[in-house]
Amino acid sequence: MSQFDVTVIGSGPGGYVAAIRCAQLGLKTAIIEKYPTMGGTCLNVGCIPSKALLDSSEHFENAKHNFANHGIIIDEPKADLVRMIARKNEVVDQTTKGITFLMDKNKITVFEGVGSFESATQIKVTKNDGSTETIDSKYTIIATGSKPSSLPFITLDKERVITSTEALNLKEIPKHLVVIGGGVIGLELGSVYKRLGSEVTVVEFMDKIIPTMDGALSKELNKVLRKQGMKFMLSTAVQAVERNGDTVKVTAKDKKGEEVVVEGDYVLVSVGRKPYTDGLSLEKAGVDLDERGRVKTNEHLQTNVSNIYAIGDVVAGAMLAHKASEEGVLVAEQLAGQKPHINYNLIPGVVYTWPEVAAVGKTEEQLKAEGVAIKVGNFPMRALGRSRASGDLDGFIKIIADEKTDEVLGVHMIGARAADMIAAAVTAMEYRASAEDIARMSHAHPTFAEAIKEAALDATGKIAIHM
Ligand SMILES: Cc1cc2nc3c(=O)[nH]c(=O)nc-3n(C[C@H](O)[C@H](O)[C@H](O)COP(=O)(O)OP(=O)(O)OC[C@H]3O[C@@H](n4cnc5c(N)ncnc54)[C@H](O)[C@@H]3O)c2cc1C
Repeated sequence: MSQFDVTVIGSGPGGYVAAIRCAQLGLKTAIIEKYPTMGGTCLNVGCIPSKALLDSSEHFENAKHNFANHGIIIDEPKADLVRMIARKNEVVDQTTKGITFLMDKNKITVFEGVGSFESATQIKVTKNDGSTETIDSKYTIIATGSKPSSLPFITLDKERVITSTEALNLKEIPKHLVVIGGGVIGLELGSVYKRLGSEVTVVEFMDKIIPTMDGALSKELNKVLRKQGMKFMLSTAVQAVERNGDTVKVTAKDKKGEEVVVEGDYVLVSVGRKPYTDGLSLEKAGVDLDERGRVKTNEHLQTNVSNIYAIGDVVAGAMLAHKASEEGVLVAEQLAGQKPHINYNLIPGVVYTWPEVAAVGKTEEQLKAEGVAIKVGNFPMRALGRSRASGDLDGFIKIIADEKTDEVLGVHMIGARAADMIAAAVTAMEYRASAEDIARMSHAHPTFAEAIKEAALDATGKIAIHM
C-alpha cells in the first residue's frame, strides 16, 4: 500500500495549493481528483472560464459601442459564440495543464478517481474503470469544494434551466436570459450575455443586488447595469420555473405579494453554492459536518478527527478561490510545524462586471451595527484624468475609517480595474494604515488608483484635491 505524509482530496485552488505547499515543506504528498483535469471548480467551470468569457464579451461590447468614440471605425462587429467558447476552453486547458505541470515539478503523486475514507488514515481511490487502490496517509486535507445549489421546486434540466456550469458552454446566445439570483455569479454571467445581445432580467429575492457588499456599491452597480440595459426585479420571490419547449416561464411574487411572470428562453439559476462531501464516506473516519452540511473545523481548520483537516468551499466562510488557497497554505504550514495565520477580515471580494466591484474589510452597514464610530471618504472615478482618458467614468471609491484613530476599516470600490486596485487596500489594511497614511502616499498620475488617495483624503476630513 502506498504511504504518504499528506493526502489532499480535491484539486481546486484549495487542494492543489495545499499540496504544493506541503511538498515544498518536505512532506510526501498525494492528491486525489475525480475529474481528469486538475484545478477544480475555479479553473474548469468557475473563475477562469467566466473571466475568459467576460473579457471576450467586453471586447465585443467595446467594439460595438465604444470604438467609434475613440475614432476607430469598423464594420458592425458580430459575436461568434462558438469561437468565444472555444477560446475559453483553450484558456482552461492551458491553465489546468499548468497545475498538472506543478504537481510533477513538486513530485506530488496524483491519483485520478473518487477519494473516500476507509478509516481516519486510509483512503480508497475508486477510478473511472471501477478499479480501486487504497493509500495510507498520516494526514488528510479535505478540499472537495462546492456545487451549485438550487431551489427545491426547480428542476435543473441543464439545457434551458441551467447553472453557471452550463452557462459557460451555451451553443447559442439566449434571446432572453432570466437570471435567478443577483449575486456575483449571476451578475457576471448575466453581463456576458447582455453584452452579446441577450435581453437579461435578474430576479432577486432581496431588495438589492450583491446583498452582502456595502450598500453604496450595490446601489451604484444596479444603476450602471440598468444603464447597460439589464433589468432587475428586486424583492421578488421565485415560486415556480416551468419549461415548455424552448420557453421557460418564471413565476414569482413581488413585494406586494402579487404574482409576476417573466418568460425567457434560458433561466440561469444562480442562488449560491453548497458544500460538496458526497462520496467521501466521512462517517468511516468519524468526521462531523455542521448544520449547513459543511465540514466542521476549528480555527486551525482541523476537523474533530485530529489528523484530518478541511479547507475551501467545503468549510465555513466566503466561497472564494483565494480564501481556499490561503487555507491550503495555512494547513500545510501547520503540518510542517509552523504557526501561520489568516486574517479573514482582509480577504477581498470582487465582482467582475464592468465596471468592476471590489471590497475589503467591513461595510458601513456592519460597522454601524457594531456601534463603531466611523468617518467615510468618497471619491468619484469621473473626477480622474485617467478615467476621462479611457472613457471609464462610472463608479467611486469609498474608504471607511475609525472616527477616533483614523485606522482604515473598509475600502469599497466600483470602477475600472477595481479588481486589481483592491490589492493596494489589502496591503494598507494589513499594515493597519490610517486614512491619512494613504492620503500622504504618492500615487502615480494619471491612474485609477489616484481615487484611493483622494477618497482617503476625504475620509481624513480634508477636502479631496480634485473635487
Ligand atoms: C462561475 C463561477 C465563477 C467564480 N468566479 C470566482 C472568482 O472570480 N474569484 C473567486 O475567488 N472565486 C470564484 N468562484 C468560486 C471558486 O470557484 C471557489 O471558491 C473555489 O473553486 C473553491 O475552491 P476549492 O478548492 O475549495 O474547491 P473546488 O474548486 O470546488 O474543487 C474541489 C475539487 O474536489 C474534487 N472532488 C470532490 N469530491 C471528490 C472526491 N471524493 N474525490 C476526489 N475529488 C473530489 C472536485 O472534482 C473538484 O475538482 C467562482 C465560482 C463559479 C461557479
